[in-house]
Amino acid sequence: MGYAIAEAAARRGAKVTLISGPTSLTVSGKRIQLISAVSAKQMYRAVMKESPKADIVIMAAAVSDFRPAHFLPKKLKKTGKSLTVRFLPNPDILKELGRRKRPGQILVGFAAETDRLIENARRKMISKNLDMIVVNRVGKKGTGFESDTNRALLIPIKGDQKALPLMTKKKLAAKILDVIGTNR
Ligand code: C5P
Repeated sequence: MGYAIAEAAARRGAKVTLISGPTSLTVSGKRIQLISAVSAKQMYRAVMKESPKADIVIMAAAVSDFRPAHFLPKKLKKTGKSLTVRFLPNPDILKELGRRKRPGQILVGFAAETDRLIENARRKMISKNLDMIVVNRVGKKGTGFESDTNRALLIPIKGDQKALPLMTKKKLAAKILDVIGTNR
């Protein structure tokens, strides 16, 4: 979804910085600068460095909430016993963006929800100081991860929410930018 939004924004004339985790996707277009991040920490650092310059920040990445406390440089051999892995919390990049948001900057987040879609998404939008949230119901066929299509509910902080039918991510990217444009 992030790649589709980056391309849609560039087509409309924006200068885009796309900070991306590992993926097989590629971007085209001279107006898009791609910055790669492998870990949540790397993404956090890149986003904090680039975002002060941005008029609009759209955080579509599905960042893991946890990371393993220890990394091993080699394969872990089986012992026949059970294994316990300790996880540490990752920084919430979007929440920090909300804290640092400067006047006039627009911040858009995503929410993948299974139930109480609107209630949970609105709460997330307020707690992270967002101007809009794009909500996906997870677990539905043809939506969310590893799919070319998506169905979303767009909830701006001001203005009416918009329930969209299943559509290509390219079309959805255009709709997201339309709503950002009309609520500016
Ligand atoms: O709180 P939750 O993870 O459901 O919120 C989803 C939103 O927060 C998405 O926009 C996602 O990109 C962002 N997020 C983040 N850093 C995390 C986890 C989620 O920026 N560690």
